[in-house]
Amino acid sequence: DYKYGGYHSTHKNEKFGKFNQYILIKKLGWGQYSTVWLVLNKFSNEYQALKIIKSEKIYSFSALDEINTFKKLDSQNDHIVNLIDSFWHNGPNGKHCCLIFELLGENLLNFLQKYPKKTEFNGLPLLLIKSITFQLLNSLNYLHKRELIHTDLKLENILLKIDQNQFNNDLDYENDEIFKNLNHDNDFGFYIHKSKPLSSFKSDKNPTRSSISSFGSINYYTHESEGQIVAAERQQSFSVSTSETETDSDYDSDDDDDDLKDHDDSDEDDLGNNSSIHYNNDTKEYNNEIEMNQSNGLIPNISFKIADLGNACPVNQHYSNEIQTRQYRSPEVILGNSYGASTDIWSLGCIIYELITGDYLFNPSNSLQLNKDQDHLLKILDLIEINKDDLNYLKTSQKFNQLFDNNSILNSKLIVKESQMNQILLERGLSSIDSLQISNLLNAMLKINPKDRMDSFNLLDAEWLANFNQNVEAKGVWGNKSQMKGWFEECK
Ligand code: ATP
Ligand code: MG
Ligand code: MG
Repeated sequence: DYKYGGYHSTHKNEKFGKFNQYILIKKLGWGQYSTVWLVLNKFSNEYQALKIIKSEKIYSFSALDEINTFKKLDSQNDHIVNLIDSFWHNGPNGKHCCLIFELLGENLLNFLQKYPKKTEFNGLPLLLIKSITFQLLNSLNYLHKRELIHTDLKLENILLKIDQNQFNNDLDYENDEIFKNLNHDNDFGFYIHKSKPLSSFKSDKNPTRSSISSFGSINYYTHESEGQIVAAERQQSFSVSTSETETDSDYDSDDDDDDLKDHDDSDEDDLGNNSSIHYNNDTKEYNNEIEMNQSNGLIPNISFKIADLGNACPVNQHYSNEIQTRQYRSPEVILGNSYGASTDIWSLGCIIYELITGDYLFNPSNSLQLNKDQDHLLKILDLIEINKDDLNYLKTSQKFNQLFDNNSILNSKLIVKESQMNQILLERGLSSIDSLQISNLLNAMLKINPKDRMDSFNLLDAEWLANFNQNVEAKGVWGNKSQMKGWFEECK
């Protein structure tokens, strides 16, 4: 993708912006449309994120839509990543639309995959998921109230908030003597000696902490025999190196990669590593905090923001019928029916399940008997409640014949049945009370007919979120259908 019309080929210290005020530092992430880089804004002296869009026209147009979408949001809000600046940049691969965002941390997919103390259900602690659900419902409410649909909600597009001051201090360490031979350009999220192989160091049980107090938040890893510092990380950073059970071989092996889900088909290029920064509180600390909070009923304070409005659209002006990343795609979109803001709620339901179990809720594939759309519907129909109205709704699809005719497997699913969600969560090992409360919430989000899907405002009333929403002013009543404009169809 680093070719004409594709991603921009960058170089270190490259200058961007109308006044060359943004200095490129390192890669933070990438997506189908763009690469995202850490930059230093020389004017404000702040670290920010630069999203460089592929140069082909269709990508530039969607970037202009993205910029327009931000005009409908408050320039500084707590729910959606803030856009700071935008401009064009010429490079060997063409002219790229560039967006400058406030700097955020790791995305929720990386966070989930690296979380050191997974629950027995293989996901994040339930109290943390509860907090994330509460925040995402509020963020969606913010977006939907402004008559916008995200259309691409997924773990990669939800980012941790960071503390700018803490981050600035940390980057200063990089200029220090001790860091002279260490660099951060690796996938491990911490500083590693430039010339030592990874296997040459061990994460010491008692990492040598520098006696210099200003380095108090840094853990140093020393070479076993030479006693030389070969790696370092900020003590409070969220990184794979903090798990207790690590041995040398953990660093050498790539075994874990098989478990890492490849959400994107595009290959990562050699131009810079995909090294998201790791500077939020240690997940172990989160975990302790969460466990502590659990006992006294408090809320964990890790915050998240929704990012990537690259595919967002107004409720009265849809840009595309083919929206959402496959695993988070709603039934109406698969069926080619009309959709509205409620399509985001479907994706959120898929996200919550994934955070609990570490698995996609629906991960369809092609087979001899079924194409991906058919397999997707089969998996949905197997899990979700279907009543008589739902059966009629399915038949309104223009694609109904194409999808269901001559397909006995799929046709056999066109029956009235109850949701299996509670059962599935019980089988995953959740307590009966958690299974019940969570399945109630998920069932309200995962309705076949988008008209029946509950909106974020009403979902905030869910019993499972009770300890979070007590301070929120009068909300909707659990069970109401949404009155929102453009909830289930484009409203011209
Ligand atoms: P998609 O393929 O989902 O459409 P995209 O090309 O539109 O992706 P984004 O999702 O905006 O790009 O960004 C890609 C990745 O870059 C994110 O998943 C995240 O890891 C990182 N990233 C984006 N914005 C920021 C930010 N403000 N701060 C830190 N990292 C960011
Ligand atoms: Mg994205
Ligand atoms: Mg995008």
